[in-house]
Amino acid sequence: MKAIKSIPELREELRTARTNRTSVEFVPTMGAFHEGHLALMRAARKRGGLLVVSIFVNPIQFGPSEDFDTYPRDLDADLAKAADEGAEVVFAPTAAEMYPDGQISTRVEVGRLGEILEGAYRPGHFAGVATICAKLFNLVGPDRVYLGQKDAQQVAVLSQMVRDLNLPVELVVCPTVREPDGLAMSSRNRRLDPAGREAAAAIYSALRAAVREANAGETSAFKLVTVARRLLDRQPTVRLQYLEVVHPQTFQPVDQVSAQTLIVLAAHVGSVRLIDNCIVGTAQRPEREE
Ligand code: AMP
Repeated sequence: MKAIKSIPELREELRTARTNRTSVEFVPTMGAFHEGHLALMRAARKRGGLLVVSIFVNPIQFGPSEDFDTYPRDLDADLAKAADEGAEVVFAPTAAEMYPDGQISTRVEVGRLGEILEGAYRPGHFAGVATICAKLFNLVGPDRVYLGQKDAQQVAVLSQMVRDLNLPVELVVCPTVREPDGLAMSSRNRRLDPAGREAAAAIYSALRAAVREANAGETSAFKLVTVARRLLDRQPTVRLQYLEVVHPQTFQPVDQVSAQTLIVLAAHVGSVRLIDNCIVGTAQRPEREE
């Protein structure tokens, strides 16, 4: 496996590595790997092409009061894990490599979708995500890009970018990987203290309760939110930011649940901000979780 920090070296490596390969499979990440990241690499590996992983904590997707400085970083452990999963190239640039002028003038804006829910609480976040992904897609030239359902709005934003800009990539969405108590794996989970970690399990319990109601035939978004909210109210350590039932592509609120409708939430547990979601419109397959 090659660990690469510079853009010219990446271009050179990919020029040679991609000859005789059927495809390029790409997993973009911010590192501090957990099983969720590894599941994306395994899904990519199964396709049999050249597996490229990127590790970059992208400064332009963090707001000024957000956790860019404290975001977990663990490059040596990440490189070992990526090698174990069969990655052939890991691109882990510095911020100066990606933003040589210290900032960037050209940005990819995704309109309304980037301004609601996560975008409302994190202004500029999705423009930062779309911009770094556009840069990485241009550098790597992947056939397929692997993304987690955990960040459902990010998936919708990147799908829109790919559609709007006719980017020649296919996005493959992989199910959310969870801890045994249901908490969605996240690099930020390691910053939870023991009490916060225990309380955070309420997030998934609440989402599951809504999914169960939907599976039992409830179609009112208001009622599903009420069920989930009631469970979260019992856990004062979990401070809800939003909890909404939304359309899976537009993220606009819906009143009635239909196929693939999402219930999405963001909450603070201590100083750690967590997001999660479940598909509530899955009545045909009662016990499926994602
Ligand atoms: P991040 O390093 O948090 O930017 O995540 C990199 C990729 O891993 C994104 O596509 C995430 O959606 C995905 N991911 C993060 N956590 C999980 C998880 N628990 N299950 C599945 N995919 C995940």
